[in-house]
Amino acid sequence: MGLPDAADLAALPLAADRIHPLGTWDGRYYQAAWLDEALLPGPDFAYHGLRALFGTLDDSFLGLAGRGAQLVEWARTHRYCGVCATALQLLDGERCYKCPNCGHSAYPRISPAMMVLIRKGEQVLLAMHTNSPYKRYTALAGFLEAGESIEEAIHREVEEEVGLKVHNLQYFASQSWPFPHSLMIAFTADYLDGEIRVQPEEIADARWFGPDDEWPELPVKVSVAARLIDAHRPKR
Ligand SMILES: [Zn+2]
Repeated sequence: MGLPDAADLAALPLAADRIHPLGTWDGRYYQAAWLDEALLPGPDFAYHGLRALFGTLDDSFLGLAGRGAQLVEWARTHRYCGVCATALQLLDGERCYKCPNCGHSAYPRISPAMMVLIRKGEQVLLAMHTNSPYKRYTALAGFLEAGESIEEAIHREVEEEVGLKVHNLQYFASQSWPFPHSLMIAFTADYLDGEIRVQPEEIADARWFGPDDEWPELPVKVSVAARLIDAHRPKR
């Protein structure tokens, strides 16, 4: 896939403060920029949503693209001070927008979210989220609330979404998830108590899947969800 180069970028009516350095990948220097839709360059270019690139591009390049998407989204949404509404200024040598009037600072925002695969004997619990863009079964997931630890978030979300109690939380892995700026932190947990009772606003269906059950369609391969489920899939 060809990407626009520095000359393409220079041809756009793009203020310098909208261009953000990303670093080098495979010997080439990359920058990310955000621009208004009306200024998008013409028919020589095609546009792809980041989500559609998952599974089609090299994982490390996708990491770079995700980083670029998060940085420009941060820049696009931090143009004015949230305290006094003055135009913010990007600091030299630091990814920080600072208010010249009141000193308020805005760094790229990262929102932690938990993911948990619940195990019960040879079975694991998979759920279909009501608002998921893909109708696929996956592990439970949810954003942390202010003041919560990741463990507290897991216990709360599991109880809210499927009415169960769990214990033996074990960290599995984490993954940057740039939609728009999450960090997905994945765990396993063991079932402790309760019957499945879904919260319909969040969960369309939740079931135990064992080694003899027909396995549902799973999340895209590059996601930490797929790795989490693959690593704990019950086998005969
Ligand atoms: Zn201010």
